[in-house]
Amino acid sequence: MPGESLTHVAADDVVQPFQIDRADVRGRLVRLGAALDGVLSGHGYPDAVASLLGELVVVAVATAGAFKFQGMLSLQTSSDGAVPLMIAEYRAAPENEGPARLRGYARYDAAKVAAALRDGDPKQSAMERLLGKGSLAFTVESGPGADRYQGITALDGPTIVESVHAYFRQSDQLDAAIRVDVGRVARISNGTGSNSAWRAGGVLIQRMPSRAYPERDDEEWRRVLALVGSSGRLDLLDPKVTARDMLRHLFPEDDLRAYQPLQVEARCRCSRDRVDMVLRSFPASEIADMVVDGEVTVTCEFCNSHYRFSPKELNL
Ligand SMILES: [Zn+2]
Repeated sequence: MPGESLTHVAADDVVQPFQIDRADVRGRLVRLGAALDGVLSGHGYPDAVASLLGELVVVAVATAGAFKFQGMLSLQTSSDGAVPLMIAEYRAAPENEGPARLRGYARYDAAKVAAALRDGDPKQSAMERLLGKGSLAFTVESGPGADRYQGITALDGPTIVESVHAYFRQSDQLDAAIRVDVGRVARISNGTGSNSAWRAGGVLIQRMPSRAYPERDDEEWRRVLALVGSSGRLDLLDPKVTARDMLRHLFPEDDLRAYQPLQVEARCRCSRDRVDMVLRSFPASEIADMVVDGEVTVTCEFCNSHYRFSPKELNL
């Protein structure tokens, strides 16, 4: 079996797969720095909204490897609150050459967000206050022309992670648990702009099919679950702690086998050609209605890129 002890562990914006042989557990440590900040900053999200979207992004990254696919995994919340829609998308690079690509988006009503945070039930979590009631959908596309898989679960519990756990419990194939921390940390400053940046850490563990010793495996699984769940022992966000040290702290008594790490980056897949194609699918009269100051401007919801077209370019 490939894999080796913890020798090559990349620093940041990385998914580090690992295995604990004794417990028949596989896992992935996710550490996001610039990749997460790239998804979250630039939209002016209130911190509570950015934090929820960050959680969704980490869950998407950590879960992607749990499905055997090389295409796209997206998580989408739809709900009745001040943040009615969030999307986090993980897309493998073509031929898996280069970093996997992340993008995400939250639709929100700033006034309602402020009111929910100010006046909401203090016993409720940020997710309960801001998202309200709704669902969480997993969509997996393994590649062009391949089957599309979709699973849906209710937004249930105080966090997105709790809803994902409920989904894992429903699923027969996936015995897994995940922990996520998202927050702002001071940016190592050498320029202008915000002096803090979004970071996130996450760890997902997945139980392998138990073989010869089901009872012992149960015990081992509970032991590893407890290690992952024990918060406060280590801040998954700390940029000074290497991924290697983080894994050693999380599982101090286990021999860990590390696999080839995978890099991720913030990268949208919008393009002028795609926007052009979408525009042309509208009737000419509707496009004509979009003309403002002599041009049609389309803004990508994910990355805030602006695409400008003259009426002539659109054959108006
Ligand atoms: Zn875009």
